[in-house]
Amino acid sequence: MDILIPEEIESAAIEKLAGKFEIVREPELWKIRAQLAQRLGRARTVIVRNQTQLTSDLLAAAPDLMAIGHLGVGLDNIDLKFATERGIVVIAPLKANATSVAELTFGLMLALARKIPLADRSTKAGGWDRNVCTGIELDRKTILICGFGRIGRMVASRARAFGMRIYVSDPFIDADETHVGEVGATLSDNLEDALAVADFVTVHLPLTTETKQMFNAKFFTAMKQGSFFINTSRGGVMDEMALVLALENHLGGAALDVREAEPPSEKSPFASMDNVILTPHIGAFTNEAQARTMESVCADLERVLTGEAAVHFVNIPRPTAAK
Ligand code: NAD
Repeated sequence: MDILIPEEIESAAIEKLAGKFEIVREPELWKIRAQLAQRLGRARTVIVRNQTQLTSDLLAAAPDLMAIGHLGVGLDNIDLKFATERGIVVIAPLKANATSVAELTFGLMLALARKIPLADRSTKAGGWDRNVCTGIELDRKTILICGFGRIGRMVASRARAFGMRIYVSDPFIDADETHVGEVGATLSDNLEDALAVADFVTVHLPLTTETKQMFNAKFFTAMKQGSFFINTSRGGVMDEMALVLALENHLGGAALDVREAEPPSEKSPFASMDNVILTPHIGAFTNEAQARTMESVCADLERVLTGEAAVHFVNIPRPTAAK
């Protein structure tokens, strides 16, 4: 089998490959580990989003696997180190989603500030209560951007256009980094100080052993009275129960595109909170981002399957110029 697709993934780019290669599609396969291992054992390449967990034991049972096409940025569902050791190329067009996630983040921020979901629900229910729907402006408010990579920077340039004061928290960048200056941001070296003044805190960092549950009770307690928390990165970076308590206590609201478990296994306390907006991990779900990602991944898989090198790989070191 040339290409295994163990999740619900459809695209015109895959249809184009279907005439040239043997493709096996099983949208529920990611849930059944034993069968997944068996199919991977015969696959030359595989396409996944973020449901399939490609752990070392599964990759070890896939002797012919040459490449993994990943439709997303957060690579936490792939054992990247093991894939690299086995010479399996991981393909992920990292820039393809960034605009869509930044725009969703802004949509959520505006929806929180202007109580758009509440206004929609109450008007559809026959109400016309403008007082309960009174919100705040973004202009001159302070935003703290945690993680200043591709998405964080795009959020910053949009925040600047809205007249916001911008703080950035990212231990891996320097204060003289061009992007920090370009958007007029302040690089924070003291998270607690930044949390004390931020009206909006938005998270754009990867899920790693260091960032797991980084947004915990201590963090939420340090947030300003009435401030808002937005997470469009990964659910695993936050402690959901600590966030619930903070929302019951002093936070103004939260918007979550991602959750600790996806989909959440049971009805969570967030569902009954008027000041919380929930979306089902749709950051990258725009026509444009999906088309860009699929076309890029499929083009690279075709290259690999016909003996050429992939272009958008993220694990095997890229060649450097000779000294
Ligand atoms: P990126 O790698 O370009 O940027 C991540 C930034 O986080 C980097 O600048 C890094 O220095 C910083 N960082 C790492 N550890 C940190 C820490 N402990 N504290 C503060 N900063 C830290 O990634 P990106 O493309 O901007 O994406 C960010 C995350 O968004 C991804 O890892 C992914 O999990 C998530 N994402 C979600 C969706 C969605 O559908 N909601 C779509 C795409 C990406």
